[in-house]
Amino acid sequence: MMGASSVPLLDDRNSAESKLRQGITTLSAGEGHSMAPQNERTSSRGERAGKPRWRTFAEYFQLLESHGMAMNAIHNVGAAQVRLAVIGDKDQAPTPAQMAEMNRLVAQAMEDGAVGLSTALIYPPGTYAKTEELVEMAKVVGRYGGVYMSHMRNESSQVLDAIRETIHIGEAAGIPSHVFHLKAAGEENWPLIKDAIELIRKSRERGLDVTADIYPYIRNGIGLGSFLHPRHYADGTPVFLKTLSDPAVRARLRSEVETTSDWENWYRHVGKDWGNVLVASVGPPLSQSYEGKSIAEIAKMRGQDDWTAFFDLAQTGVVNVNPKSMDEEQKAPGAARRMGERMHGFGAAEHPHRH
Ligand SMILES: [Zn+2]
Repeated sequence: MMGASSVPLLDDRNSAESKLRQGITTLSAGEGHSMAPQNERTSSRGERAGKPRWRTFAEYFQLLESHGMAMNAIHNVGAAQVRLAVIGDKDQAPTPAQMAEMNRLVAQAMEDGAVGLSTALIYPPGTYAKTEELVEMAKVVGRYGGVYMSHMRNESSQVLDAIRETIHIGEAAGIPSHVFHLKAAGEENWPLIKDAIELIRKSRERGLDVTADIYPYIRNGIGLGSFLHPRHYADGTPVFLKTLSDPAVRARLRSEVETTSDWENWYRHVGKDWGNVLVASVGPPLSQSYEGKSIAEIAKMRGQDDWTAFFDLAQTGVVNVNPKSMDEEQKAPGAARRMGERMHGFGAAEHPHRH
């Protein structure tokens, strides 16, 4: 459901092969960002700075079709994309004029063939949007029979509030709402998955069309540096990583990781066990023999204690890890069954969209 981008299909139609070989024939694209709308503001970000290759979904779909599509694609218009196009990436509320322009862009996207509004409220600049701003845009989508899909504001200790917000947005706009990869990340939060499913089941009983999809795995993927509080990176990653040579800095950071929880503390999420943090990939100068091993195992290989190994590896800035942040219960088919009825599919016969 959260296929993010269809631009690879545009740039290289053979890129569809990886999905087709898994039996996936329809890509659902659009999250916080989406393929359109584009303008000078949005295209000044990323590698294709300057003049956008397209501005509207109509132009984008024409490009896609002219290249020949190897699989089906449906597109959401991303709330953060619309925000970027009108406000930029600043943390500020839209003025009434800006809100009207945002709604106009959403309406145009729907006229062009988008299937709904999608969000990624866990990342900036999507996170700057207040609930009411999203309700406004969801109402526009509702006029076209669209849906609301969300990478929610929180997926750990505040996950229940995040689900309530998602349901509220759909209900206020009178449209179906969908939770992207429902989970309760972090060992302390695993029990919340039952309440989360219950919340969705109850809203369905009230007659609301609320659905969710789940991860097919129990580990997420992040850089090892994410195990330290993000605020330390405010002056840039290289500046911060240099300070990790100082034993006093390491001691302070370790204490912060071990004793605080008012942030996405992955060490707590894995049950304070470096054995639960698998190294997925390393870059030079580290040995590839570390890949597939836990931080605890690597510490043994290096003859170090876990924390010294962690800091040494984190300092290189080239280590990606898969923390065991979820449990089997969350991906079991039973979890989906408990939600109630069979999930319904979007973009099916009742909503024939262009892609
Ligand atoms: Zn997520």
